Amino acid sequence: MKRKLIIFDEDSGEEIEKIEFSGGYNISVANLYDSGKIRFIRKLDNGKFGDKHWIKNYLYGPLAKRLIEKFDEIRHIKSEKILFIEDTEWEPGISKQPWIARIKKANKELESITGYEYVMEIRGYYTDKMSKSQVIALIYHELRHIHQDGTLIKHNIEDWSNMVATLGKDWATTMEAIENILDDDFIGWDDLRKAGRQISMFEGLRMVK
Ligand SMILES: [Zn+2]
Repeated sequence: MKRKLIIFDEDSGEEIEKIEFSGGYNISVANLYDSGKIRFIRKLDNGKFGDKHWIKNYLYGPLAKRLIEKFDEIRHIKSEKILFIEDTEWEPGISKQPWIARIKKANKELESITGYEYVMEIRGYYTDKMSKSQVIALIYHELRHIHQDGTLIKHNIEDWSNMVATLGKDWATTMEAIENILDDDFIGWDDLRKAGRQISMFEGLRMVK
């Protein structure tokens, strides 16, 4: 999508600057009257980030927003504070349990320049192979790492059992058809957890995923 930003002097109508772009924008503005506080208008949707990452807010941002609107346990999160980047080059190496996605706090420099508070990094190697339902579950899972107070927390049991009960043990790495948790007829975590406990009793018998 082609866009153009034109800056005018409000008084004289004179055109000061014209910027053309297509991958989104991130504007910082400062005023002289509110102690110079820098404000951010973030809309970095689609662009290169470093050597091997691609910004994919156009893809994951709306997904995160819908998840946040739907699930109380993550309602404290602001999706526009997350920069979603996809590693487009990573391939499995020697690590036995490589991660698929992770979320980190933006470092001070990134936050002060862009206003993003978190960076969610996703490995395209995996998400390319996943179904939409699995990608949604993955994003939900990563959002669960953001605590009410804004800090990042490790997996808690509840979170993990939600995922396993709903989506199956190897939900993130198999091509299993799983529930789309954004579907209107998704019955909710509680009912699924109950089912999950029953399943776990027979876990040893579940040799096939
Ligand atoms: Zn996790």
